[in-house]
Amino acid sequence: METTPVEPTPGARALATEAVHAGRDDLAALGLHAAPLDLSTTYPSYDSRAEAARLDRFAATGELPDGPPVYARLDNPTVARFEQALARLEGTEDAVAFASGMAALTAAVLVRAGAGLRHVVAVRPLYGCSDHLLAGGLLGTEVTWTDPAGIADAIRPDTGLVLVETPANPTLAELDLRAVAHSCGSVPLLADNTFATPVLQRPYESGARLVLHSATKYLGGHGDVLGGVVACDAEYARQLRQVRFATGGVLHPLAGYLLLRGLATLPVRVRAQSATAAELARRLAADPRVVRVHYPRLGGAMVAFEVAGDPHEVIAGVRLITPAVSLGSVDSLIQHPGSISHRVVGEDGRSAGGISDSLLRMSVGLEDADDLWDDLDAALSGRRRPARERAAAERASAPAACGPAAR
Ligand SMILES: *Cc1c(COP(=O)(O)O)cnc(C)c1O
Repeated sequence: METTPVEPTPGARALATEAVHAGRDDLAALGLHAAPLDLSTTYPSYDSRAEAARLDRFAATGELPDGPPVYARLDNPTVARFEQALARLEGTEDAVAFASGMAALTAAVLVRAGAGLRHVVAVRPLYGCSDHLLAGGLLGTEVTWTDPAGIADAIRPDTGLVLVETPANPTLAELDLRAVAHSCGSVPLLADNTFATPVLQRPYESGARLVLHSATKYLGGHGDVLGGVVACDAEYARQLRQVRFATGGVLHPLAGYLLLRGLATLPVRVRAQSATAAELARRLAADPRVVRVHYPRLGGAMVAFEVAGDPHEVIAGVRLITPAVSLGSVDSLIQHPGSISHRVVGEDGRSAGGISDSLLRMSVGLEDADDLWDDLDAALSGRRRPARERAAAERASAPAACGPAAR
């Protein structure tokens, strides 16, 4: 059997070591070097009486059955390796992986809402779709938006969860996790750690009971895998697995394999990308074309900045940097939150979250800092006209041939 229970955080091994060894400790004994990829959806069992007992136990406690897996919606050995590794990096007892960051957040909310605790307290800004999920009440929850100082007063008897991001998407606003955790009292605090990653911050150690990642971002790190994960204590993990089994938002084993591989280089990537981001933030802050730069005190590979000119022109003008939503990849991406990542939040929500229309959010990759700066510099100067405009200008200057333009 390949699935092993998550061991407690050893504390003896450094993060860089855990990143390449956690979730893989048994490989040598199995005669393997790379983690095996198990794509089975089901597993043979000749003892259906024993299966019945194993399933009863899962239904009652959320504990994964001992022995071989039963069905891929319940458990997968490759995904379990990623879960164990992430738990080690975040310093939690366990972790539960999902099909996406949004599936992970949905499960974390449903664990509480399913127990009748339908009120959520949250601090803006949040990732656009997280905001949308809470504001729209799709899961039957009600949200109270507040600032960190207002959390204690916003908590009610039916509050199931407090939700924060730090640094937050997209403004990179930071809050004091320890102080926030204190304000939550006995209500679980969920901290979205997508931007900081466990390389820069371990929210569980500051009192967050749940640590959420869009694994799509830095954990995967290469822009080719969608996933989500919640790192937490064993008790919450059991409840999350029950919700995952019932709702089906499982991580595909190939995604689990890629995420485990991504974790191996996470510390190296985050540190290198952060150093470049800090340098670009410094240059942007000294640039008269930029009104304001947001760069976390904590560091990190995300930079947000407000431009004096038209932000859409900057997006249209980049060439090395890809104008695209998402973040955390080895290559740099830039996007306009007001148009894309936080469009769904609406104008009022954006203004409540401090997301101005001139804000751009850049995810800094592993390229050379000078090359990235040259691209930003050209895009900010408006030297490069948007491709569409350029094509229109070329059409206008071409000799008229036929059609209405020929008149
Ligand atoms: C992208 C993102 C999410 C949602 O994750 P998906 O994997 O896209 O579902 C949640 N939180 C933050 C901070 C994000 O950046």
